[in-house]
Amino acid sequence: MRIPCPHCGERAAEEFSYLGDATVQRPAPDAGVDAFVAYAYLRDNPAGALAEYWYHGGGCRSWLVVTRDTRDHRILGAVDARGREAQP
Ligand SMILES: [Zn+2]
Repeated sequence: MRIPCPHCGERAAEEFSYLGDATVQRPAPDAGVDAFVAYAYLRDNPAGALAEYWYHGGGCRSWLVVTRDTRDHRILGAVDARGREAQP
């Protein structure tokens, strides 16, 4: 799998570290225990496009939001995560 880093160009996935789903939103401080349990442990498993956080440790050391199709691991796009609010 190759990931198109917006700073370095297309690079091998081995240069990156995967963090996880970039669509999860931290609940408000007063949201309650159930909301924090869901935030920490529960994830959807969609078949299709999913925005994920990846770290380019073998390159520019930037955090990226990579959109990947979970059915075939095709990369649909990648943007710098700085200043970006996670999108569902
Ligand atoms: Zn990079």
